[in-house]
Amino acid sequence: MSKKAVQGGQPPKGPADENTGHAQGENPWRQLPAVSSLLNTERGRVLLQEFPRPLVVAAIRQVLEEIRQGLRAGEETFPPPDTNILERATALLRRQQQRSLRRVINATGIIIHTNLGRSSLAEEARQALLEVAGSYSNLEYDLESAERGSRQVHVEKLLCQLTGAEAALVVNNNAAAVLLALQTVAPGREVIVSRGQLVEIGGSFRIPEVMAASGAILVEVGTTNKTKLADYSRAINDRTALLLMVHPSNYRLVGFTASVSLEELISLGRERQLPVMFDAGSGYLLDLGVEALACEPVVQKAVQSGADLVTFSGDKLLGGPQAGIILGRRQFIARMRSNPLARALRIDKLSLAALEATLRLYFDPLTAKTRIPTWRRLVIPREEIERRAKALTELLRSAQPQLTISLQPQESLSGGGSLPEEGLPTLAVAIRHPQLSAQGLARHLRQNDPPIITRVAQQHVLLDPRTMDTEEFPLIAAALARISLG
Ligand SMILES: *Cc1c(COP(=O)(O)O)cnc(C)c1O
Repeated sequence: MSKKAVQGGQPPKGPADENTGHAQGENPWRQLPAVSSLLNTERGRVLLQEFPRPLVVAAIRQVLEEIRQGLRAGEETFPPPDTNILERATALLRRQQQRSLRRVINATGIIIHTNLGRSSLAEEARQALLEVAGSYSNLEYDLESAERGSRQVHVEKLLCQLTGAEAALVVNNNAAAVLLALQTVAPGREVIVSRGQLVEIGGSFRIPEVMAASGAILVEVGTTNKTKLADYSRAINDRTALLLMVHPSNYRLVGFTASVSLEELISLGRERQLPVMFDAGSGYLLDLGVEALACEPVVQKAVQSGADLVTFSGDKLLGGPQAGIILGRRQFIARMRSNPLARALRIDKLSLAALEATLRLYFDPLTAKTRIPTWRRLVIPREEIERRAKALTELLRSAQPQLTISLQPQESLSGGGSLPEEGLPTLAVAIRHPQLSAQGLARHLRQNDPPIITRVAQQHVLLDPRTMDTEEFPLIAAALARISLG
């Protein structure tokens, strides 16, 4: 950094004057103090004890620049006193010190919220992750033979036991799983997909684009609303490598529609000696007997119906870490394993540890439903939601008497590409503040530490107890108690 820049705010011959072209004498920002003089004050010296000098200088410079812009725009007429400038720099330094990626409170009611990190992990998964994070591990070391092992052994057998699959492979995420499978099974050859299933998931995963990236050739059959088995059958030729079915995840075809079931596609595949792959997306591993999810495809059933390959995400309905899981025939999985792309897409050890621990919870359906947060939130009974909504209301009433609080029947969403239409009935705590708009109130909550993410509807801020833990309620009350309007 040049000395010139450090003195950016100094009058009257300071370089800032030249940069802005203002005539001297008529610009109030000429009176801005120099960085060096601010550092020489009592408060400046305290700051230097707390933060490294380059950070302090940069923060002061940034504040000075903001003030200069304010003056230029006519929003401020006189430069603030030195202590004020240093206070703003201190606040800026504290904000900068905060980790960028951190915990938030999800009050939106969207359970698998992709922007908020999808699934939170079960206690068992967190423990496993921590243990592996802080030590060496037998990640790729066979304790029996003392030789090099495969990281896949930690989950492959569990996945096969749980679903009946012949073999399994886990990678970085489901997009990677689909890419690896297509690139291994169908490079330069044709893959037949229904036009009704050429989906886009979350902006960047589009079936046609993943197909192109894999080197496979997409053959679309049927129409957007109707695809029949004969459409697939007619499209098969000697270049065909695979029949692909994609779970439409985040939308539904309703009205005048027809689609082919996975079972029908599998029998066609058998007849024509072609493998069938199912991208199940959301990853409902086993039928846990949850009525609201009765329409979701179950991974175990897809495997048992004879799908040659099934892929799904680790952090959607499975409730584990980000991962992509591929189940299927031994020959295909073996070929994927030796594909160089597998190395590029491999799962890391922390995710692997969390995935193994999550999978172990599935051996008992009741354990899965009670220990995995995603499932707890999906099956939480109505009375429990009511109880929590009332408890939160009480807390908020005493924390911030100015609030208007009501309970509103609303719908939570499962998110993550499962159940695109059906909401889960919930009871939201709806709040209003007499001097703040709903957007303003939502912003205040977002700026809290930890940030509280809410939904705004009809001039109310909605807090859905389904996606919050009761331990988070006092934090919300404290955030609202801190509202002070000047
Ligand atoms: C979510 C989803 C994907 C992408 O999975 P990621 O784990 O986010 O990479 C792919 N296909 C379907 C059908 C999905 O629902």
